[in-house]
Amino acid sequence: MKRRKFLKRASLTGIGVAVGSNLIAKNSKEHRQSERLFSGVAKNFPIVISTWNTPNATLKAGELLEEGYSSLDAVEQGCMIEEADAKNQSVGYGGRPDRDGNVTLDACIMDKNGDYGAVVYMQNIVHAISVARKVMENTPHVMLAGKGAEEFAVSSGYKKTNLLTQASKVAWEEWKKSANYQPVINIENHDTIGMLAIDKNGDISGGCTTSGLAYKMAGRVGDSPVIGSGLFIDNEIGGATATGMGEEVLKTVGSFLIVELMRQGNSPQKACEEAIRRIVVKNSNFENFQVGYIAINKKGETGYYSIHEYFSVSIYENKTCKNHLSDFYNKN
Ligand code: ASP
Repeated sequence: MKRRKFLKRASLTGIGVAVGSNLIAKNSKEHRQSERLFSGVAKNFPIVISTWNTPNATLKAGELLEEGYSSLDAVEQGCMIEEADAKNQSVGYGGRPDRDGNVTLDACIMDKNGDYGAVVYMQNIVHAISVARKVMENTPHVMLAGKGAEEFAVSSGYKKTNLLTQASKVAWEEWKKSANYQPVINIENHDTIGMLAIDKNGDISGGCTTSGLAYKMAGRVGDSPVIGSGLFIDNEIGGATATGMGEEVLKTVGSFLIVELMRQGNSPQKACEEAIRRIVVKNSNFENFQVGYIAINKKGETGYYSIHEYFSVSIYENKTCKNHLSDFYNKN
């Protein structure tokens, strides 16, 4: 291994040890565990992890990182692939509408400096993730909603597009016959893409973009654009992002929780499991909804976990992108 590379990795590992051990009482079981979790060698960067089977988006992000692009550029461009894909009916163009037939988008992005930008309840613009980045970089604010977000997007050069495709319109008209609001686990409305990436410099960014729950009430905003819930990045520790029933993620501030659990020395996997546990213990109703979390730490270790089966993640590592089925809580 080249000396520069070795030094970079060694210092990354060093950061982990310092952070993990500072916060946890010495001689405690957790302290010993954190030393174990934060020791060892960092993985080969770049790495990307995304929710669900999103090979095109994840591969795109991975390839950009190989070319030397930043993790911020990679998550933006990767998420844009899903936003433009009409077949993904939970994100961007072709997303399923709310009860009134309006497709409304939520998205956010967060970078290595802890900067963050978001759009909520935005209509008529395909690339919500890019508009979120523009909010972060070109405004004094972190979040724009509704008409304001749309007008800001147009003034930034994005063109207006009708996001309701024929397929989504037909599905909505079918739904209206019963107008029964019962989200179906994994199938109907959980393709939100949340993406976490580490670039060649070891810097972490994340993005999350969605059209939200299908046939939601007009005005409903989920977890995906909300910092700490749908996404959180701390470049010293790692990042996390969510998919599934946004109301439950919001109530437990899931992504922030996962990053804080990693700060205390937990692996990304343990942190995701604990965040899911926090939801199910308070919710006798958990049989009826899905939540999935993914996480990455500064060393490039990944974790993912969900309430129910069939959650999966896409991971780009060592120049290859693979889909992995997640372990889950509800095994009865
Ligand atoms: N988390 C998204 C929301 O609640 C939806 C999803 O991921 O399925 O808006």
